[in-house]
Amino acid sequence: MDFLPFTRPSIDEATIAEVAEVLRSGWITTGPRARAFEAALSEHVGGRPVRTMSSATAALEIALRVAGIGPGDEVITTSLTWVATANVVLTVGAKPVFVDVRADTRNIDLDLIEAAITARTRAIIPVDLAGLPVDRDRLYEIARRHRLRVIEDAAQSMGANWAGQRIGTTGDMVVFSFHANKNMTSGEGGCLVLNDESEAKLCEKLRLQGVTRHPDGGMDVDVLGGKSNLTDIAAAIGLGQMKHLEAFNTRRRALARRYFECFDKSLGFELPLPEFEQSNWHMFQPLLPRNASMARGAFIDAMRGEGIGVGVHYPAMHLFTLFREMGFAEGDYPVAEDVGRRTVTLPLFPAMRDEDVQRVCNVVSKIWK
Ligand SMILES: *Cc1c(COP(=O)(O)O)cnc(C)c1O
Repeated sequence: MDFLPFTRPSIDEATIAEVAEVLRSGWITTGPRARAFEAALSEHVGGRPVRTMSSATAALEIALRVAGIGPGDEVITTSLTWVATANVVLTVGAKPVFVDVRADTRNIDLDLIEAAITARTRAIIPVDLAGLPVDRDRLYEIARRHRLRVIEDAAQSMGANWAGQRIGTTGDMVVFSFHANKNMTSGEGGCLVLNDESEAKLCEKLRLQGVTRHPDGGMDVDVLGGKSNLTDIAAAIGLGQMKHLEAFNTRRRALARRYFECFDKSLGFELPLPEFEQSNWHMFQPLLPRNASMARGAFIDAMRGEGIGVGVHYPAMHLFTLFREMGFAEGDYPVAEDVGRRTVTLPLFPAMRDEDVQRVCNVVSKIWK
């Protein structure tokens, strides 16, 4: 039987033809396709300014710089996320302050944020883990009360919504990722949703060496920028993917529902929150039973032996060496640590068939028993 990976992008022939067209056109870096992709993304978020970047990591870093966050500042975030979320805080010279997650949503516990706020706190970076949105009403109520910026790490929640409002259409700055494993991809890539044109202008400078071009052909540099523009090759893929985003997410929700039907509840796994209105079901992540006789590594190997790929997203990042060296330790965020030790990502992607979900559930039962 074919190997079933935990994720796989769906790229249609029209997109492949568009990429070939870009390659033949003589202009393959940032150009008309990147601008068209930005226009399509802006429409997706209700007309707000959007700028594309070579990754969501670059977009998060630029968002912090646009917000003026740097040395001496603290940024509140979650430990249960891809390392990029807190790495960028260190990159700009600020200090990440973790807050534990909720056991049900596995997202930042909003009840614990206020206790973590100090005089140095400047921003909150919430993460919609697996595409399940953080409560935007409560989040912004806290941010407003304490005059904090919010940089939404919505890398996983493209097309998801909070109370019917699509993620990105409301709020402060919002970052999406188009990494190959996300719900829509440009190979590598990301974007930043901004509040106004002056933020967008600064963002444009920061993503390309700080350059401002003058009409007479001259230029100026008045701020230190990096190099994180998106190529037209990537933008052509992104434009092709956007046409399918709704269908992709609808299919993901249907497959997730199927997992809940097929999964043997007697095994003692903790299934994710069964939420089908707001989440875009970026991942399906049961937690292994506590005190299980089979270790996670052995489970992953056994699944692979049966032709099924299993991922881990993510171990709690405050326990990584870099963060331990900054003083974080075991026991600091017990819920994130517990979820991080037991989580497994089972296959979920739009091209999967219903039978594939049944097969995964059968193999999990067989291995676990
Ligand atoms: C993927 C991801 C990122 C980084 O995205 P890149 O485009 O790979 O830089 C950041 N945060 C979260 C939560 C992610 O899942």
